[in-house]
This record gives sequence, structure tokens and C-alpha cells, in this order.
Amino acid sequence: MKRSHLIKPVLDAVYPTIDYGKGVYLYDKDKKEYIDGSSGAVTASIGHGVPEIIKAINDQANKVSFVYRSQFTSEPAEALARKLSEMTPGDLNWSFFVNSGSEATETAMKIAIQYWQERGIFTKTKVLSRFISYHGITLGALSMSGHVGRRERFIPLLEDFPTVSAPYCYRCPFNLTYPSCKLLCASELERVIKRLGKQTIAAFIAEPIIGAAGGAIVPPDDYYTEIKKICDRNDILFIADEVMTGIGRTGKMLAIEHWNVQPDLVALGKGMTAGYTPMAATLVSERVMDPILKGSKMIMSGHTYSANPQSAAVSLAVLEYIEKNQLVDRGKMMGNYLIHKLSTLANEFAFIGDVRGKGLLVGIEFVYDKELRTPIKLANLVIQKAMENGLLVYPSSAGEEGITGDAILISPPLVITKEEVDELVIRLKKAFIKVDEQLRP
Ligand code: PLP
Repeated sequence: MKRSHLIKPVLDAVYPTIDYGKGVYLYDKDKKEYIDGSSGAVTASIGHGVPEIIKAINDQANKVSFVYRSQFTSEPAEALARKLSEMTPGDLNWSFFVNSGSEATETAMKIAIQYWQERGIFTKTKVLSRFISYHGITLGALSMSGHVGRRERFIPLLEDFPTVSAPYCYRCPFNLTYPSCKLLCASELERVIKRLGKQTIAAFIAEPIIGAAGGAIVPPDDYYTEIKKICDRNDILFIADEVMTGIGRTGKMLAIEHWNVQPDLVALGKGMTAGYTPMAATLVSERVMDPILKGSKMIMSGHTYSANPQSAAVSLAVLEYIEKNQLVDRGKMMGNYLIHKLSTLANEFAFIGDVRGKGLLVGIEFVYDKELRTPIKLANLVIQKAMENGLLVYPSSAGEEGITGDAILISPPLVITKEEVDELVIRLKKAFIKVDEQLRP
């Protein structure tokens, strides 16, 4: 075999070579079939090889693929911004386009700081986040992230942004139970704000449902209502990081809609183009844009590929496809079915501690002992066995033993059928049986 020049996630690991994909299935060069049970990294949300998207790619490439945003606007970029404003709740009427989720959250952070500066307040520069979270890999995004494993090497370069406890009921940081806990995890935000001084804090950022760092951790019912009240009381903007949860993944266009709370800024990525080209966005509310429009009239950020017409045309086609095929509702229905099937499966295996999630963002957390909920590092073995059985699932852990457990995400494309969900669960069960055999003394 020829040597590889490609830097892969694990350099000495052997990865299968992908050949093509169709719907929820992927095929490698050895003709092995996989169900894309995680949409890659929770990205390929309308499935692979969709003819409408391929046509949109070709149509736009035949016109123009790239123009620089300081020299031209384009019909696809204008139409995409309009569509996002229509499809999202409230007054999130402005879009700033970037290329990755990390850029989207980092841009949200910068816009939040600029918002206060435009109002003559220069001390509000910190962004609070949660201890268990993932907001991206660039240094600014990582500064806001509570993902020990991904932060470790770069700690000296990171901003020392404070964090609050995550609403992780399965392993409550206060050892309490909802609702008698009185949402201590939410009120902690106000305590931290008081200690630091609200004059130092620009925004609070949260993933409505914690994804990569926690395995689809869904907060209790009143959590975000309480969080938003605290933010408003203290003049702090609320940023919803919907890079993983957005664009219909959880059964609503934005996951924060499950809690009926209006964010000031939203970060989108992944499902925005469903993996067909790279593109992400920071959505900005009228409230936040207002002083910027009256003030410096520009946002001090941007990338060469921001708002490029090629990716904008693809994202627009993806959003239209989602709308036309009612994939948000469909994802919700299939998600309920998947969670029901996995909850039944959980009874058969001692190491399945929790099955949770919303829509087609589903987490399974592993335990050594169901009663004691002792964490066990099992995600990598499950992923390996699933892959051997033709199923792709996604690892999820904040990389800190004892604080989060080890989990996987199951997040197939929203187009998955009932029969394909059945097949997914059959393959997962086969993987679990192999894991079980390996765990036995
Ligand atoms: N925010 C969330 C919630 C994510 O899940 C991710 C990626 O997994 C990011 C931000 C970073 O996105 P990207 O990998 O596109 O930079």
C-alpha cells in the first residue's frame, strides 16, 4: 500500500476508504455497506446523494462559485439569509455567514462584545458557558468550551472564561432530583454573574441540548426560561449554539424552540448544508443589530469564503428540501420511534444506563452498574463493534471521567424510514452483544 500523506484523526489507525453514499447508506471501496447512524458528525441530515442538491451544486457552479463579500453580494446569499430569517423564530433576521461551527460560535462571541461596545460599554467582554459543553475548536470557541479532552493542550492560550454547572439530571452536579432541585444549575448562573460583576459579562452561551460533550443531555422543562430571565435581569445576551441541534435535528427548526425561549444570537453549522459544502452562520436578532446599524455599521469579522454563492446555493437547496419534504416533523416522529426502540433495547443490556434525546438527536450513556450509575468507558468499543456490523455512531464525552459518563450519539439523517430505523437497531444490538461478550470475565 502507498504511504499516506493525509493527517487523519488517529495517525496509525486504518480507515476504510469511502466510495459513495445513497440516502442513509454509505459504501466503502471494499463494497461494505454502513447505515450512517450519526449523519457523519451529526451533519448529513438529508442523507447522501440527493439529486436536488447535486443539481443545485451544478447550476450554481455553471454561473459563479466564488465572489468576495466585500466586492459583491449574490442572489443565493441574499435568498439564504432571507430563508433563515423566515424559518427561525422571532426576530433572528440577520445572517453572518462563515464556514464552520467554530467560526459561527466565535463570531457570535465577537458580535456580543461589539453590541455592548456600540452602546458605549467596553467592560463586558467575558462569555460564560457551561462546564460540560462544546462550542468549537478555534481558540476563542475552545475558551468557551467545557471539553476537557480538547482543551488540555492549549490551556495557556485560552481565555479564562468562567463556567456554570450543566443541567445534567442523570448525574446531577448537586445530587438532587428535578423539580425538587429548584433548578440550582440555572440559579448558579446568577451567583457566578454576581461574583464576577455583570459589568464584565457580554453573553452566556449554551447548546440547547448538549451534544458532543455529553451525549444529548436534555435540560428540564423550565431550565431555559429561568436562564433567559437571569440573562435579561443582568443585561447579558443569550447565545444558543445550535450548530449540532439546529435545522430540524431535534424535531423543531431550532432546539431552543422546545423551551419557547428567544435567543439573541444563534450559531448554526453542520445541518445547514447537510454536508454537501462547508457553510455555517451566526444569526443575529434585530435587538443586537440595532446599535450596530446605528453605530459602526459593520461587523469586524469575516472570512474569504464567507457568503460564497456556491455554498449559499447549496444551503438554500437543503433548506427548501427540508421544508418541501417536511423533514422537521418527520425527524420528530422517527426520533420518538427510535427512542422507544432503544429504551426497550436498554432493558437487555446491563451497561446501558440512559437513553435520552429529542427528535433524531439521541444519546446512550454507558454504565458499569445501572443502579449506581458508575461510569464505564465503553463508547470506543461500541463504535468499533457497530462499525464491524455496518453501522456508524458518534462518540460523546467531555473527556473527564466521573463528571460525564461515556456516551454515543445516534443521529441518522432525517429522511430515515421506519424500516431503516429497525435495521439500525438490529445492527446496534449485534454490536452490543459483541460488547457484552467482551465485558464478561
Ligand atoms: N458547536 C457545537 C454545538 C458543535 O457540536 C460543534 C461541532 O461538533 C461546533 C460548535 C464546532 O463546529 P465545527 O466542527 O464545524 O467547527
